[in-house]
Amino acid sequence: MADAYDVIVVGAGTAGLPTAIAAAERGARVLLVEQAPDIGGTLHLSAGQMSAAGTRLQAARGIQDEPKLHFEDAMRISKRTADPRLVNLAVNLAAGTIDWLMDEGFEMDPEYPKIFYGHEAYGVARTYRGVEGGLSVLRVLRKALRRTMLRTGRIDLRLDTTMIGLLQDAPAAPVRGVKIRGRDGQDVEATGKNVVLTTGGYGANPRLFSFLTQNHPLFSATSITSNGSGIMFGARAGGFVRNGDKFLPTFGGIEIEGNPGKIDFYDMPNLTPQQRPPWEIFVTSEGARFVAEDHPSVDAREHALMALPDMTFWIVYDEHAHETGPSLLGNWLGGESTWTPERIARAFREHPSFRTAQSVEDLAVQCGMQPRMLAGAVIDYNQGVSTGRDRFGRTHLPAPLAKPPFRAIKAHGVVLKTPAGLAVNDSLQVVGKDGTPVPNLYAAGEAIGGATLSGQSFVGGMSVTPALSFGRYLGRNLLTW
Ligand SMILES: Cc1cc2nc3c(=O)[nH]c(=O)nc-3n(C[C@H](O)[C@H](O)[C@H](O)COP(=O)(O)OP(=O)(O)OC[C@H]3O[C@@H](n4cnc5c(N)ncnc54)[C@H](O)[C@@H]3O)c2cc1C
Repeated sequence: MADAYDVIVVGAGTAGLPTAIAAAERGARVLLVEQAPDIGGTLHLSAGQMSAAGTRLQAARGIQDEPKLHFEDAMRISKRTADPRLVNLAVNLAAGTIDWLMDEGFEMDPEYPKIFYGHEAYGVARTYRGVEGGLSVLRVLRKALRRTMLRTGRIDLRLDTTMIGLLQDAPAAPVRGVKIRGRDGQDVEATGKNVVLTTGGYGANPRLFSFLTQNHPLFSATSITSNGSGIMFGARAGGFVRNGDKFLPTFGGIEIEGNPGKIDFYDMPNLTPQQRPPWEIFVTSEGARFVAEDHPSVDAREHALMALPDMTFWIVYDEHAHETGPSLLGNWLGGESTWTPERIARAFREHPSFRTAQSVEDLAVQCGMQPRMLAGAVIDYNQGVSTGRDRFGRTHLPAPLAKPPFRAIKAHGVVLKTPAGLAVNDSLQVVGKDGTPVPNLYAAGEAIGGATLSGQSFVGGMSVTPALSFGRYLGRNLLTW
């Protein structure tokens, strides 16, 4: 049996680190358990975009904004499918979180705050991002953790240590602590007055993804640490798992060669029409167009993609677009791209998601599409280019697709965050289906479900910011010992 703690935080990632730091600063003896050899969780991968209204940075730029407007925008973007109580809590805490990061030396990208179009756009410039994305956030948290550990001596950080169960006498009874397995393979029980599940989502667990997310195909860009174990243990303890029906993929990513089902977020093609109007058409696995490629609403494009059973499409273009159009493969988040001309040429020679052929029909055969369907889609699109009227309402019609060789890149709807998670109340206590709290058990971050704050949409910054904010709020205000 390990010592008794005031607070046990499971998962030293985006939400867990601020929880542990804030609780220790308030006097708690904290056990911080992390299965990986390093802290940080998804921050190692995340773009780290945050959203907040009423920050000092906005004021300095004369941007008028307030949490009420943030709330309305988030509910509009989510088509009112997000949880209004928790969105309200998140937007009211958000500015404090950004201001705190700045006080801690966060390196903000000087272009931000701005309106970001990669997700459905907010009405005002309230998206923030560090110069190194999620790593900039982690840099601040790492420094703050080290400082708090040294100053208070109250955080017992256990890396390479996995929670393998919650201590509880019966489901829905008070949670007394956790069972953990450390580096030495020994199982230990640690008791604590509060257990906080900040274990992240489940995008790296295909079986759980299928089970919780209505069997949608999984093309995952998530961290390998996102195995959903905290959600499962929370459910076994009496927590209610909700929002699996609110999945929406991100538009769209290319499978990593030799790693089916996995997407490198930073290699995604630039499909944001506000950044790069498209020169290509997008077609289904059969070869039919399914959406206006320049539809200004990414949410509309994402819903159209989700309607395809395999959530897969081909980006089809010709040599003229390849030579003349702006780069399709570049860093869509800005900054340097790893897509050099040599890498692109090699991909067309070797990568199974990249195809090229001298005719549209041959291209269709190479991609497993119906040749007549793809040829019809290209003829139809080219007619739209010549008349200025596109069947799907596309307005950017730069040139017909006519010059061989023709090219196609296979893309998929991408999972960045998973929708289902543990239901929590306003105090972030894990609750059962009837709303009754499971005593002593709390959750924050993606463990409460990505859809809780985004609904069936992707509300920009509404994963990282609330993970940080709710963690701080738990440690500073909610947990008692
Ligand atoms: C490529 C990518 C880009 C993204 N971009 C954005 C963005 O720009 N803006 C935004 O808002 N969101 C974004 N997201 C989503 C966002 O980053 C995540 O939702 C958020 O970081 C999750 O935070 P978390 O604390 O819940 O989980 P994590 O940060 O993943 O932390 C969970 C931690 O728990 C540990 N853990 C899990 N189970 C156990 C166990 N049983 N025992 C011990 N430890 C355990 C894990 O190892 C991990 O370290 C992105 C996600 C991805 C993948």
